[in-house]
Amino acid sequence: MKSAWADRDAEALVAHGAKSGIDRDLALRIYTTRLLGRDPKLVLHGGGNTSLKTRMRDLLGEDVEVLRVKASGADMAAIEPEGLPAVRLSPLRRLRALAAIADDELVGVERANLIDPAAPNPSVEIMLHAFLPHKFVDHTHATAVLSVIDQPDGEVRCAEVFGGRLAFVPYLMPGFGLAKKAIEVFERAPASEGLILSKHGIVTFGDSAREAYERMIEMVSLAEDFITRNSKSRIIATLWREPEPVVAVAPIVRGACSQRDEEAEGAWRRLVLEFRGGPAVLSLLQSDLSRLSEGGVVTPDHTIRTKNRPLVLPHAEKGKLEDFARAAREAVGTFTADYQNYFERHNKRVGGGKRELDPLPRVVLVPGLGLFGLGRTKRDAVIAADIAEEWMAVVADAERIGRFESISEAAMFDGEYWPLERKKLGARQEPPLAGQIVAVTGAAGAIGAATAKAFAAAGAEVALLDVNLPAATLQAKAIGATALPVACDVTDAASVRAAFGAVAENFGGVDILVSNAGAAWQGRIGEVDEDILHKSFELNFYGHQRVAQAAVKIMLAQGTGGCLLFNVSKQAVNPGPNFGPYGVPKAALLALMRQYALDYGADGIRANAVNADRIRSGLLTPDMIAARAKARGLSEKDYMGGNLLGREVTAADVAQAFLHQALALKTTADVTTVDGGNIAAAMR
Ligand SMILES: [Zn+2]
Repeated sequence: MKSAWADRDAEALVAHGAKSGIDRDLALRIYTTRLLGRDPKLVLHGGGNTSLKTRMRDLLGEDVEVLRVKASGADMAAIEPEGLPAVRLSPLRRLRALAAIADDELVGVERANLIDPAAPNPSVEIMLHAFLPHKFVDHTHATAVLSVIDQPDGEVRCAEVFGGRLAFVPYLMPGFGLAKKAIEVFERAPASEGLILSKHGIVTFGDSAREAYERMIEMVSLAEDFITRNSKSRIIATLWREPEPVVAVAPIVRGACSQRDEEAEGAWRRLVLEFRGGPAVLSLLQSDLSRLSEGGVVTPDHTIRTKNRPLVLPHAEKGKLEDFARAAREAVGTFTADYQNYFERHNKRVGGGKRELDPLPRVVLVPGLGLFGLGRTKRDAVIAADIAEEWMAVVADAERIGRFESISEAAMFDGEYWPLERKKLGARQEPPLAGQIVAVTGAAGAIGAATAKAFAAAGAEVALLDVNLPAATLQAKAIGATALPVACDVTDAASVRAAFGAVAENFGGVDILVSNAGAAWQGRIGEVDEDILHKSFELNFYGHQRVAQAAVKIMLAQGTGGCLLFNVSKQAVNPGPNFGPYGVPKAALLALMRQYALDYGADGIRANAVNADRIRSGLLTPDMIAARAKARGLSEKDYMGGNLLGREVTAADVAQAFLHQALALKTTADVTTVDGGNIAAAMR
C-alpha cells in the first residue's frame, strides 16, 4: 500500500479552507480522512474514524480545547467540516475516572458538550480518541491488518509483524470500556506509534495529519508484506459442474430468504439482492466453507450489516434447479431457526429486553457461482455484498498465514444489538413497498415515468423498461441511484427475456409488473389494413402477454406471490369511433388480465387493470389536444376536464391507482377507473 499524500493537493485544500475560516490543522484532518476513506482496503461503508484535538471559540466566544471527531456513520471519503463535530475535550477526559457509564448517559455528555448543539452524534469510538493524548488519531479496519490479527495467536502475530511499534489491546466491545483499556495499554507503552485493537482494527497517531496517516499506510504495508511472505499455497479442491446462471438462481434464493408476514395475510417480508461473482469470490467458495462461515465477522461493526454469519447453500448444478430450490428452502429454515436460538440464548444472557431482528440471512454463498448480499433496499444489499467480499478477502489471507478466528458469538450479539451501533442505520419508518421490486414497461412515457416514481416513493426498487433506453435512463436518474433503466421492446420475445433477465440479475427477482407500454392506431374496423391490426395486437396485446409471462415465471420461482398490473385504457370498456385497431386488442387485454387472475390466484399472484382516459402523454400530445379542443369548440382546459367532475386527470393520478392496486392484497381481477367520471366507460 502506498501513501496517497500529495503536497499539492494538501496545500490546495488548506488554501481553499482558509477562504471559509477553516484552519490548517482542520483542513489537513479533512484531507487525510478523505484519503483513508477512499481506499476500500482501509475503510468500508461508514467504518473507521479520525479525530483532531484543537482549540476553537464556542458560542460565547470563549477559546476552548475541543476534540473534532468523525460523526457516527459518516462517509470518510466525502467528509466535510460538519462531519467532524467538535466536543469540549476536558469533560470527556474527566470521564476516565468512572468505572463505567451507560450508553445513553455517555451520549448525553457528548451532546451536552457539543460546540454546535445541532451537530450530528460523534462516532461510537469517540472516547478512544478523547483519552489518547495525540493531536491526530486515525482508526481503520484495514483488510490486511485484520487478516494478521484475526488469529488465535493475534498478539504474537502483532509483535512479529509490527515489531513492537503498535501496542496490543485485547478484545473488548467498542465503546467506553475499550477506550479505557486502550489508554491503559498506551500508557504502559508510551513510545508506540499506534494500537492494534484485537480482532477489530488498527489505530495510528501523530503530531501532524501526515504523520498519523503515513503511519497507517506503513503499518498496513507491513501487514501486507507479512501476508505475501508467509502465505502457504492453497490447493483448489473442487471443480464444480456447470452451474445454473444467476438469473435462474437469484429468484430461488430471494424466495427462500423471504418471510410470510403473520399479521397480514398475503404479505411477505422480502429482501433485495446484489450478486457478486469473479475469481476472488469463487476461489474462497472452494474452501472449507462450512467451518469458515461459522467463524464469524472480521470486525465487530460488520454484524449490523451481515449478521453473525453467512448462509451457505449447495451448488446449483445445471439442470437440477428443483433440487437446489428444495435444498435452499431447507437451508434457510435451518438458518432462521439457528438465528432465533442465538437471539434467545444471548438475549437471556444480557437480561432480556432486546427485540429480535428478522432472522433472514444478509449474505448467501453459492459455491461455484458467487455470493449474494441481501437488504431491505438495494443500497443495503450492495453494502452487505461489499462487506461479504471484504470478509472473504480477510478470511482468505488469514487462512493463508494461519487460521481465521473471529470474536466470540456473545461479542457478535453484543455488536449486532448495540443500540448505538444500530443508530448508524438511521431510524427508519419503513415505507409500504420496502423490499419489493417493480418492473414498469413504457417507463419513459408520461404514465410509466409517473408510476415508476410513485412506486419508488413507496419504497420499492424500480426497473424502468422502455424501447427508448436513453429516455428510460433519464427517468431512472431522476428517481435515484438504484433505479434501473433497461432496454425492452415488448414486441420482441428475445428482448423481453433479456430485460427480465437483467431485472432478476440486478435485484434478484420481481414482485410487481406494471405493463404499460402501448401505442394507438386508428382506422374504421371494416376497412382497416390487416397489417395495422397485427401491429397493434403485437404491442397492445402480445406485448402485455410477453411481459406478464416473463414476470410470472420469476414470481413462481420466488414462490411469494406477486402482482400484475395492466394499463387497459378506456378503449377496453368504451370503444371510440374508428379506434378499433387500438380498442380491440385493449379489450382482449382486459380478458387477459382476468385470465391471469383466474389461473394464478392460487399462487398468490394478483392481476388488476387501470382504465384511464384523456391523459397528457405520447398518445395525447399537446398538438392533438389543441386540435380536438378546437374541433369541439372548447378551450383546452375544458376539453381536458370534460368529465363528470370537470377535473383534468394526470399521469400521477394513474400512478396512484396502480399503487393502490399493488397495496390491496385482497383485490384481484379488478379494474380501477381513473377518468374523472365517464358513465359510458363505467364498469358496471
Ligand atoms: Zn472500529
